[in-house]
Amino acid sequence: MIVIRGDGVAAYCCAYLLGKAGLEVVLEPVDRSRLPAIMLSDHALALIRDIFDQNDLFRDAPQIRKRMVAWGADSTLLALEHSAVVVSEELLLRALRPSLALPDSSVATEWTVFASRPLPTPAVEHPFGSRMASAVAVSLQDGSEPETCWIESLENGWLFLIPNAPGSAWLLAVGSAPDALLAASRVIREQIAQAHSGAGQFPAYPRIVSPLSGDGWLACGTAAMAFDPLCGDGTAHAVREAILASAVIRAVTQNGPNDDVLAHYEARLTAGFRRHLALCREFYTSGASGPWWRGELDAIQQGVAWCDRRLNAHGEFRYQLRDFELHALR
Ligand SMILES: Cc1cc2nc3c(=O)[nH]c(=O)nc-3n(C[C@H](O)[C@H](O)[C@H](O)COP(=O)(O)OP(=O)(O)OC[C@H]3O[C@@H](n4cnc5c(N)ncnc54)[C@H](O)[C@@H]3O)c2cc1C
Repeated sequence: MIVIRGDGVAAYCCAYLLGKAGLEVVLEPVDRSRLPAIMLSDHALALIRDIFDQNDLFRDAPQIRKRMVAWGADSTLLALEHSAVVVSEELLLRALRPSLALPDSSVATEWTVFASRPLPTPAVEHPFGSRMASAVAVSLQDGSEPETCWIESLENGWLFLIPNAPGSAWLLAVGSAPDALLAASRVIREQIAQAHSGAGQFPAYPRIVSPLSGDGWLACGTAAMAFDPLCGDGTAHAVREAILASAVIRAVTQNGPNDDVLAHYEARLTAGFRRHLALCREFYTSGASGPWWRGELDAIQQGVAWCDRRLNAHGEFRYQLRDFELHALR
């Protein structure tokens, strides 16, 4: 029996894929707060539809067609095409939650997938930054541009405005309190008629756990590594991690424990995390130049160096993922 601990996209994706492969799977949900709004690009949505065999998922969800970007100290406002939908995390998880049998305590646990904290003792988190995000519900000004999201960098952080229904949106404030960032805002402040209640604070700094697997367990999703929401691809990342985690579990349950396969998992995730940090480095180099940006950028650079040391020690990849299974490369 495979136990999957967690209640997010990564946990559901592992449960769905392993169940489909014929393994006995048990889901152990955990209670936690949900994000009020998640933007899923066309690419992320296509991946989710494909994996969960739901071709019509979110066909009627609110759309984002344009991104207005004011990034950098003297930047002009840029209008960029975009194509995404906005859903609440609650709605996303309700659509993807697999129906599984209840746990059978007489069946032994072969492997545990930790798609939520806490992780087993040897796992240590390596944070590369300290920024937090606050989400606030807001009303938009009359006549605000429909299907448009906004992003703006400021001296002490950045703002992201995601419309989720006509006349209303979620404001994500990263680095400082929403009020303080809005007071300094040049473009997003003008879009907002009124700020309402907050929906909590979420860590927004990149972080990775090491080791990512151990005796009979592996970590997946945000519990394994978490991304800065600025890059906007966290959900698709969690799905891709779950695809690889499920392939690893299939390999080790079929063929027995295999350090090479687990090392491959660790290296693939580390390489994905490094790509994310490299993207963050571009954004945090150009956002602004004050102490807040320099501090976060230093931490990102340390993260890149940390990943490079790990990846150099690993060497070349010796497995390939095909049709949801791992194949050794000759
Ligand atoms: C503020 C914010 C905005 C985001 N916006 C987007 C977006 O627009 N598009 C997108 O694709 N991805 C976005 N993400 C990332 C996305 O939510 C995660 O990558 C995805 O949900 C991970 O799935 P999981 O199964 O690993 O989730 P889980 O591990 O179950 O966690 C889901 C989310 O909840 C947060 N979380 C988990 N536990 C706690 C806790 N105890 N307290 C507070 N928060 C917790 C995590 O940081 C994670 O973002 C955002 C993340 C944050 C923090």
